[in-house]
Amino acid sequence: MNVSVVLFTADLRLHDHPPLRAALDGTRQVVPLFVRDRAVDDAGFAVPNRLAFLADCLRDLDAGLRARGGRLVVRSGDLVEQVCRVAAEADADEVHLAADGSAHARRREERLRRALESEGVRLHVHDAVTTAVGPGAVTPGSSDHFAVFTPYFRHWSQWRQREPLGPPRTVRVPDVVGSEALPTRNGLSGLSPGLARGGEVRGRERVARWLRSDIAAYGDGQDDLAGDATSRLSPHLHFGTLSPVELVHRARRVGGPGAEAFVRQLAWRDFHRQVLAARPAAASADYRTRHDRWRSERTAGADIEAWRAGRTGYPVVDAAMRQLRHEGWMHNRGRLLTASFLAKTLYVDWRVGARHFLDLLVDGDVANNQLNWQWMAGTGTDSRPNRVLNPVTQAKRHDPDGAYVRRWLPELEGVAAPAVHEPWKLPGGDRAALGYPDPIVGLSDGLARFRRARERF
Ligand SMILES: Cc1cc2nc3c(=O)[nH]c(=O)nc-3n(C[C@H](O)[C@H](O)[C@H](O)COP(=O)(O)OP(=O)(O)OC[C@H]3O[C@@H](n4cnc5c(N)ncnc54)[C@H](O)[C@@H]3O)c2cc1C
Repeated sequence: MNVSVVLFTADLRLHDHPPLRAALDGTRQVVPLFVRDRAVDDAGFAVPNRLAFLADCLRDLDAGLRARGGRLVVRSGDLVEQVCRVAAEADADEVHLAADGSAHARRREERLRRALESEGVRLHVHDAVTTAVGPGAVTPGSSDHFAVFTPYFRHWSQWRQREPLGPPRTVRVPDVVGSEALPTRNGLSGLSPGLARGGEVRGRERVARWLRSDIAAYGDGQDDLAGDATSRLSPHLHFGTLSPVELVHRARRVGGPGAEAFVRQLAWRDFHRQVLAARPAAASADYRTRHDRWRSERTAGADIEAWRAGRTGYPVVDAAMRQLRHEGWMHNRGRLLTASFLAKTLYVDWRVGARHFLDLLVDGDVANNQLNWQWMAGTGTDSRPNRVLNPVTQAKRHDPDGAYVRRWLPELEGVAAPAVHEPWKLPGGDRAALGYPDPIVGLSDGLARFRRARERF
């Protein structure tokens, strides 16, 4: 026997891929395998925007493998059953897989290890494939994870990263193993019209441009809503078409304040992963309870609907929510504002907002999404849990001439800044002609409700 299976999960690339490199060691044949895991579908996680991006990634991975003499094998069903079946068909004696700290992935890995071992097949799990620094690699000593970002970042920055690996030259796949047809975007309904395309080739083009020119302005421009000056690499990091280790390495080589700020954001990604790996319940329960008695779908249905539809009457909130629907992506500053508005100004359960984001975001990711929502709701790792972002102040600061708001709200096309951020202040006749809603809640009323709720304890 001289065959390995490489199980691709959230690492859909050929560059800097330790499991593939290890499997190809010597003269081994390899089965590059992707399993459309039924459990992910059953959990409601397989939504159209991410399925479309995934289809692009799988096609691109298959093309990359074919250019090297191989091909991708795709199966669907129970992941453990499918991997065991493919290993048996290929007469493989080992399976390689990237480590993943999520509770679902760890349970799955344990089941897979037991099932493979009973067939005499070894499972090799590789660290630092989907993260730059894996969960548990750095710990504070007194606990199993860091609950505060700043000390985490200090340790993270000192961690000795491995060198990025190049892509393989050739990949030989045994003929006996067949594949299902690769998934396509065709037939997927409900896609965001402005959804980005996936795949490693596109990801690498984007990162090359980013490192060559745009990263320099990142430090100053990352909160500029209209400038859209962030990397937009999040979907590629989510599906692993780009390697976080390689990104950190290349950004550090570029250097300068922009690159430093960018590397810091990549550390935030690992930070949330190590929190979730240590506290898996934080995917759905408060990391730190504030004893909230949130408003819910039942008690705040109309407010929630207005928020989802981008019709709250607060232009910057509505612009960001419409960007989410149109692109399946939202600027980070928009995510912060809309989350603060839902969880604090409307005092609605953060899980309602997190679910809506996961239904649409192409980068929708349990660790990043749930823990950022908790951060903004004040139930997570934020040291100022009762901070409330004022959408008008924020809009004037981060969209001073109103270009972002006008881009997403055609109703306000003809309104200049600063009035565009407070259309309720326009004279009655002008306001009615806009066809744009009045605010669904006064900011001071929302703030008072939130303070009352949090002061109960
Ligand atoms: C309420 C809320 C929900 C979020 N949901 C998600 C999500 O589901 N998936 C997701 O990838 N990010 C999420 N984020 C984090 C952040 O908004 C996005 O990663 C970022 O906007 C993606 O754009 P970018 O790639 O241009 O980021 P850049 O600013 O270019 O940053 C580079 C990379 O760093 C990472 N990063 C940046 N900011 C954060 C952060 N605050 N936390 C963790 N990682 C970060 C991302 O991987 C990002 O691609 C959420 C933030 C908030 C406030």
